[in-house]
Amino acid sequence: MKSTVSLTVKPEQEKDQALIEKLIKSTLKKEKPEFFSAYMAAKSRKTVFIKKSIDARHGQVKLHLRYDVYADEEPPAPQEELPVWKKADGKKKVIIVGSGPAGLFAALKLLESGIKPIIIERGRNTAQRRKDIALISTRDSVNAESNYCFGEGGAGTFSDGKLYTRSNKRGDIGSILRIFNAFGADPRILTDAHPHIGTDRLPKIINAMRDKIIELGGEVRFGCKCTDFLIENGRVKGVVCTYVVHEALEGPLMIQADAVILATGHSASDIYMLLAKKAPQCLEAKTFAMGVRLEHPRQVIDRLQYHQMAGDPGKNLGAAEYRVTTQVEERGVYSFCMCPGGFVVPSASGPGQIVVNGMSAAARNSKWSNAAIVVETRPEDIPDIYKEHAEKLGCPALAGLLFRTQIEEDAFKNGKGQAAPAQLLTDFLANKKSPQNSLPASSYTPGIVSSNLNDWMPDFIAKKLAQGIKQIDKSMKGFIDPAALLIAPETRTSTPVRIVRDKETMECRGLKGLYPAGEGSGYSGGIVSSAMDGVNVAEAIVMSLQGV
Ligand SMILES: Cc1cc2nc3c(=O)[nH]c(=O)nc-3n(C[C@H](O)[C@H](O)[C@H](O)COP(=O)(O)OP(=O)(O)OC[C@H]3O[C@@H](n4cnc5c(N)ncnc54)[C@H](O)[C@@H]3O)c2cc1C
Repeated sequence: MKSTVSLTVKPEQEKDQALIEKLIKSTLKKEKPEFFSAYMAAKSRKTVFIKKSIDARHGQVKLHLRYDVYADEEPPAPQEELPVWKKADGKKKVIIVGSGPAGLFAALKLLESGIKPIIIERGRNTAQRRKDIALISTRDSVNAESNYCFGEGGAGTFSDGKLYTRSNKRGDIGSILRIFNAFGADPRILTDAHPHIGTDRLPKIINAMRDKIIELGGEVRFGCKCTDFLIENGRVKGVVCTYVVHEALEGPLMIQADAVILATGHSASDIYMLLAKKAPQCLEAKTFAMGVRLEHPRQVIDRLQYHQMAGDPGKNLGAAEYRVTTQVEERGVYSFCMCPGGFVVPSASGPGQIVVNGMSAAARNSKWSNAAIVVETRPEDIPDIYKEHAEKLGCPALAGLLFRTQIEEDAFKNGKGQAAPAQLLTDFLANKKSPQNSLPASSYTPGIVSSNLNDWMPDFIAKKLAQGIKQIDKSMKGFIDPAALLIAPETRTSTPVRIVRDKETMECRGLKGLYPAGEGSGYSGGIVSSAMDGVNVAEAIVMSLQGV
């Protein structure tokens, strides 16, 4: 027999095993008397810790803990919950464009049926990519093929590795976490309510996944960029690729397969442009969000969330998180991708643009805590000039993408190299430029340049941001801290374009044999939901190839 028990304890009680056991028994006795009697009479009793969440509301910090309790029954062994991967026989092949979470998890799913995945990745492997990323800060040099967005593991490799998602309806999120754990992630990701891996641990995990895919007969080609599709009678039969090694281009190369998964993420503007030419009807404008990164000294956020417990090592609370949301003139203004104890990073995917994002190490121990604060941007909010330009390109759905690009280029003009435009939050709200020497130290290593963001950010974004932040400060008093810094722009929270696919077959509208997956398709956002989407798309392909 099995039952589940939820407890609420003080942080310092978490490790007191005797107390926890006592509380489990007393809770069972009170809430589940029948199970309690069976449990006490059982020959074997086992308790498995399932979930932990920190509740810092109402001026007090509490831990919510959940346990599965077994009476005369064995808990499932972790390896029993993992899929069984088979050696690919090569009879059926599927090309996967992009080695991000969607691509990697799709590959593993195909291997459950022995189907050979061929991963085509424009960027470099994690070791070489790390060097390219370092050059962004040290030399202002952004390699358009290998950067924070492009390369082995996709945009998620050098990230916080936060693994929570609210899109639980798409499938068994636990299965994604168990696979991450099997490839080396800390088992705590299976029990934390807000699990995260950390940028220092992710590359090894991604490498282990790649090695497994190759060991099982899959192929992984780095520096190999998809530039076109091979189409016969409206059906995608393969891809045209070019090897991109720094500036030296080799190719083209044609690869054929039984199906093509397009898991290129939402930074691959060239792929959207390609689709706009090949099948403009498959692209649809969607709501996305843009704004800024807001960086506070970590202590400020810890104090706001943990109150008198902030900084108490005995409580072992870790850097504090927050999630804020409000409405301004019918548009959401909200925090996104909060990185406690983290860093703001330069995540442009090409020269001539500035884009910021956030990440943290497993220990989340930097002096800062940051989050994107963004404004919901609907297709009707896009200024006419971009709509007209998109019309001229023959694909109105591209308007949001063109608008996003313009903001990133404007940021570049208002920065210096990859040093990003920045402003004290208080000055932004007062609409005045911060003196350069008043800008605080920041985690953003390429540097920051003082700029009045109100002068160049689109008016509707800047005004709603300002209003939204003032509203947020009412519910989280002290959020508008004198040391809080805005770094701009945060433009890549989600894609402005959806690649429409058929609900049943998951194929791209107008291009059979092509399966859009992950964040770039507009059907997922974030590591876990993109991985889940990759799995779902691979499942649809397996069914189609097996004639189910
Ligand atoms: C700095 C940073 C921090 C982040 N932190 C988090 C976090 O903590 N938690 C979270 O859930 N999400 C986070 N994200 C977002 C997350 O990384 C993405 O949601 C996720 O990676 C999307 O997965 P994907 O597989 O759909 O696409 P991506 O990860 O974007 O992968 C797409 C891949 O396709 C490749 N590609 C593109 N075009 C081509 C082409 N023409 N030919 C060949 N290959 C191509 C790219 O190089 C890339 O590797 C972060 C993103 C960044 C940039």
